[in-house]
Amino acid sequence: MTKLNSDNLQLSAAGKLKHLLNLEGLDKNFITRLLDNAENYLRPKGSLPARDYGLQGQTVANLFFEPSTRTRASFELAAKRMSADVLNLDVNMSSRIKGESILDTIFTLQAMQVDVFVVRDAGDGIPEFIARNVGTHASVLNAGEASTSHPTQGLLDMLTIRQAKGRLDGLSVTIIGDIAHSRVARSLSHGLRIMGNNDIRLVAPGGMAPDMALYPGASLYEDADTAVKDADVLVALRIQRERIEDPSGIPTEAEYNQRYGLTTDRVALAKPDAIVMHPGPMNRDVEISGKVADGPQSVVRQQVTNGLAVRMAVLSAVMESR
Ligand code: ASP
Repeated sequence: MTKLNSDNLQLSAAGKLKHLLNLEGLDKNFITRLLDNAENYLRPKGSLPARDYGLQGQTVANLFFEPSTRTRASFELAAKRMSADVLNLDVNMSSRIKGESILDTIFTLQAMQVDVFVVRDAGDGIPEFIARNVGTHASVLNAGEASTSHPTQGLLDMLTIRQAKGRLDGLSVTIIGDIAHSRVARSLSHGLRIMGNNDIRLVAPGGMAPDMALYPGASLYEDADTAVKDADVLVALRIQRERIEDPSGIPTEAEYNQRYGLTTDRVALAKPDAIVMHPGPMNRDVEISGKVADGPQSVVRQQVTNGLAVRMAVLSAVMESR
C-alpha cells in the first residue's frame, strides 16, 4: 500500500507521483525529470512510435465527461503503447447519465481492477475528490478539470517551449484570449512560474479577464499589441462558450479576432523567432488566423506530438509510485 505525503496528495511519502491533479506542489526538479523522460518517448518523424512494457498487466480507464479529441486520443495511445489494457468509457452510454454518482462509477470500475483513472470533468475539484476516495492501489490523472487545471497540457506546453527555446526561464510568454475560463492558461502559468519564468503576460477581453489572485506573478494587459511586443512565446485561446454562464458580454467573432486574434500583423510584433501555440481545438480566423496556424512560427502540431510523449512519461511516473 502506498503511503501518501499528507501535505501533497499527489506524491507518495517517497516523493513519487501517485496522482497528477495539478502542477502546484511539484517542484522544478520533478517537472524537469518528467519533461526529460517525455523526450525519451519522442521519435524522429517517419519512424515507428516509442513503445514500452511498463504498464503490462495494468488497466487504464479513460473517463471523459466533457468532449475531447487530443487529450483523450493521446492518453489512450500512451497507455496502449505502454502495453496497458485500456478501457474507454462511453460516457453517453454510461450509467452516470442515469444518475449514478461519479464515485459509484469509480468503485464499479475499481471492482474490475482498474489501476489508473484518467478523468476529465466540468466540476471543480472532481479529480482530487476521486483521489481521496479511490482505493490505495489506484492513481488518478487529471485530464482537464473545469477552468481550474489541466496539468498534462501544462507539461506538454512547457516541453514544446523548452524544445524551441532551450530553456523555460527568462522568457516572455503572452497568453491571449479567454483566460478566465481557461484551465490551459492556469496550468501553463503555474508551471512556468515553478520553472522560474517571471514574465507571464495575460491579455483578455473585459469579461474574460481572470481573477489575478489565481495567477501569482503574472501581469494582466488590456491591449494585445502591447502584450505581444517582443514576446518569445504566444499562446492563443479559444472562447470557451461551454463555461460561460452569461453570453451577453462575449465579443463577436470578428471583434475578438480584431482585438485579440493572432494575425500575421500581430505576430510580427513579437520577437522574430517567437513561437505560436494553441492547445486546440482551434477556431481558425477567430483566435488565430489560418495563415499563422499553418505558418513557420506555429508549433501547434508539435504540441500534439509532445502531448502523447508527456502522457507516456506521466503513466511511467505513476508506475514508480507502486
Ligand atoms: N483542449 C483544451 C481544454 O480542454 C482547450 C480548449 O478546450 O479550448 O481545456
